[in-house]
Amino acid sequence: MNVADIAKKIHREPAEIIKKLFMLGVMVNQNQALDKDTIELLATDYGMEPQEKIQVDIADIDKFFEPEELNPDTLVSRPPVVTIMGHVDHGKTSLLDYLIGINVVSGEAGGITQHIRAYKIDKDGRSVTFVDTPGHEAFTEMRARGANVTDIAVLVVAADDGIMPQTEEAISHAKAADVPIVVALNKIDLEGVDANRVMTQLTEHQLTPSEWGGDVEVVPTSAITGQGMDDLLETLLTIAELNEYSANPDRNALGVCLESEQQGDRGVVAKLVVQNGTLRVGDIVVCGPTYGRVRAMSNTLTNEPMTEAGPSTPVSVMGLESPPGAGDRFHVLEDIGDAREIAATRADASSRQSLSGKTTAVSFEGFQAMLLDGRLGQTDEKVKLNVIIRADVKGSLEAIDKELTKFEHPEVEIKVLQRSVGGITLADVTLASASDAVILGFNVIPDEQARQLADERDVQIRRYEVIYKLADDIKAMIEGRLKPEERIVELGRALVKQVFSISRVGTIAGCYVAHGSIQRGCRIRVNRDGRTIGDYGLDSLRRIKEDVKEVPRGMECGIRLQGFNDVKQDDVLEAYRIEEVARTLD
Ligand code: GDP
Repeated sequence: MNVADIAKKIHREPAEIIKKLFMLGVMVNQNQALDKDTIELLATDYGMEPQEKIQVDIADIDKFFEPEELNPDTLVSRPPVVTIMGHVDHGKTSLLDYLIGINVVSGEAGGITQHIRAYKIDKDGRSVTFVDTPGHEAFTEMRARGANVTDIAVLVVAADDGIMPQTEEAISHAKAADVPIVVALNKIDLEGVDANRVMTQLTEHQLTPSEWGGDVEVVPTSAITGQGMDDLLETLLTIAELNEYSANPDRNALGVCLESEQQGDRGVVAKLVVQNGTLRVGDIVVCGPTYGRVRAMSNTLTNEPMTEAGPSTPVSVMGLESPPGAGDRFHVLEDIGDAREIAATRADASSRQSLSGKTTAVSFEGFQAMLLDGRLGQTDEKVKLNVIIRADVKGSLEAIDKELTKFEHPEVEIKVLQRSVGGITLADVTLASASDAVILGFNVIPDEQARQLADERDVQIRRYEVIYKLADDIKAMIEGRLKPEERIVELGRALVKQVFSISRVGTIAGCYVAHGSIQRGCRIRVNRDGRTIGDYGLDSLRRIKEDVKEVPRGMECGIRLQGFNDVKQDDVLEAYRIEEVARTLD
């Protein structure tokens, strides 16, 4: 704030403030910004208590627009958003084509699988929205950016091929996203396929078919004959009903951008999925680092123009200033100026971020720092360590698993997101980055792409050659994540002999240290008539007008407490310090 701002706030003339500051030894003009100390000095002089304004983080803007729906009456059920995943050639594209009634595989619209497809399909008055990403990295990438579009994952497994490496990855990605998985046991029309073999494989991957007493629906399908297609839709609709996916169509729209491009004279076309509210032509939208007014919208399947799009609806939108990125969230605002400003701030922040090479994914060390800061792990919830394991041979995987189970601890949960044989890949790093996981490599190395992305995202890849080293390392990681124990160290006791009230400064307690010592930075319990009446931080500790670090027993000193000006003669001040003690597993 400058002098003019302050004058306005406290209803005084700027000249008066300039004069006052002059008396206090600060020379300024009206428009000069004042530092925090000067503002504090001034405010105290006027008998006011200044408060620091909390800066809103750009990353929090989304949260600001997404207040929780407090009134359940406004909620209505919405279609499920379903992502199709699976190994290449198992029939993802064909399956979706059959469902929407077009044929892309046979070539008319070649190359379309390069893109993220999103279509809403209607069945007997109910709808399902399908999102088909070119690979599960895209799915996880969006999740890494905080855009959870998916309610249910459909895992396509070809009955003749069974579970393949990318199927395994897809399973890990879906599990990490914590969404229900439905298996489409595809190509069931082929002769001689053994459904039981695939069911066994699924069970081995902790996806036990409901037929076998588990909770995973396995639907035999054929994208060629259409067998099982209705069952698949029905299953998805049932899961949706059970989970009661809902949204409020009467609020301003918000959602996620799946992809976007600059299309010649049409301008920017962005494929968005509305997650809540209703998006309308004419709405002002801010989407990641860009903004604009919705000029036109069209159905992603039929290209027909649309005037509005409700919850769970994918829609092609024209009118944004520049193409937003996949996974960027969008919100509708009332004011185009606000939208412009937010977009500009974000563009600015992201260019600064890319200059400094920082990304938002939290690394292991970052996570640890957050724990120590107390930003995480404050609740009674367990501390989670997510790991992805890659090993040279299956035997090593088993040995590592055994090591991990040894680390049982009531406050710690080690969650293995994925375990597989082979080198560390890009997909591992994307998954790790989206799930705050550490990658443990046993006798394997990351490929170049994986190494690069891991560097960019600060994903930890830890490599080992011997099992016991891995065991030691994990132990150290867990210990780093345990909340440190707090120990109270009593420092000393002071008696209040006299109290001085000084304007601009507050109340100073003139004390005699009767026991131990009083130290800078300690905390003070104030006791009166044998009762503790409060607990405060020590604001200043002085001996004969000098700030000192410590005042030992037998000496006199002046003490000011943080936020407490009511000290009385004969109060007993007890000084203590909280020490944090690192914990070990032993
Ligand atoms: P994607 O890579 O998972 O998208 O797989 P595609 O949909 O491109 O399918 C790969 C190949 O499998 C194509 O030649 C399809 O015609 C064939 N295919 C897909 N689904 C089925 C099915 O249910 N039965 C049979 N027989 N072939 C299928």
